[in-house]
Amino acid sequence: THFGFETVAEALKEQKVGAVFSSVASSYDTMNDLMSLGIHRLWKDHFVRNLNPGRNPLTANNSQEKGWSILDIAGGTGDIAFRMLDHASTINNDAYTKVTVADINPDMLAEGRKRALETPYARSSRLNFVEANAEKLDMIPDASVDLYTVAFGIRNFTHKDAAIREAYRVLKPGGVFACLEFSKVNNAAFDAVYKRWSFSAIPLIGQLIAGDRDSYQYLVESIERFPSQTEFRDMIKDAGFMVPGQGWEDLTGGIAAIHKGVKP
Ligand code: SAM
Repeated sequence: THFGFETVAEALKEQKVGAVFSSVASSYDTMNDLMSLGIHRLWKDHFVRNLNPGRNPLTANNSQEKGWSILDIAGGTGDIAFRMLDHASTINNDAYTKVTVADINPDMLAEGRKRALETPYARSSRLNFVEANAEKLDMIPDASVDLYTVAFGIRNFTHKDAAIREAYRVLKPGGVFACLEFSKVNNAAFDAVYKRWSFSAIPLIGQLIAGDRDSYQYLVESIERFPSQTEFRDMIKDAGFMVPGQGWEDLTGGIAAIHKGVKP
């Protein structure tokens, strides 16, 4: 607002998003599998493989820095972070890449910490969790991050443009902003089937499995309200990023999309 205060509507939105994720934290993975028929795992695998995190010691001999510094925003249950550390270690033989998982919701972070115990990274300095709002990452210094990721998070932010500006600030020159998010289906017939699934089945599954219809209704509506591929690409450009190619890659006909920007 003009005076720097949050509007009542914005404060309520933040509260509501908080309540939604506290409510879904423990059933989050099961619900993701059910709602996406397991496809979210393939999207996340593709997202991480395509980013190819890690600095291969055999091919990066001119670099003084060991490993990448990765910030996974809205990292919730650690889904993206664990994949990135696995990829850096097994594909790039990189035992130094570090991931900081930041999330605004302590219940989602607690779920992530619990799940980390089942990975080799639980007690290593390569993984840490911080409670933070993506719109104001004061604890992260300027130009300190090689890769900023946000998966299925940004559509919940109240001020998406502020979050993208923060991404720009914390990235090093040459650093990459990468976002995996629900997007707009690009075929009318497929869109009709998809809308029917999302507006009727998802709230129903939410009610039956998680005992919480409203949170899942909110998730479906937030997908509907999120900008189109081109609009979101332009928001990334407006923050100062260079955008490679058309700026995004559609997944499963546009149900989700990966957007990328490079800090010049
Ligand atoms: N990245 C994970 C994944 O792909 O499975 C979790 C995504 S989950 C749908 C969305 C996450 O965004 C929640 O954990 C929620 O707490 C977080 N979130 C919402 N608003 C946020 C904000 N302003 N700053 C940081 N995290 C936020």
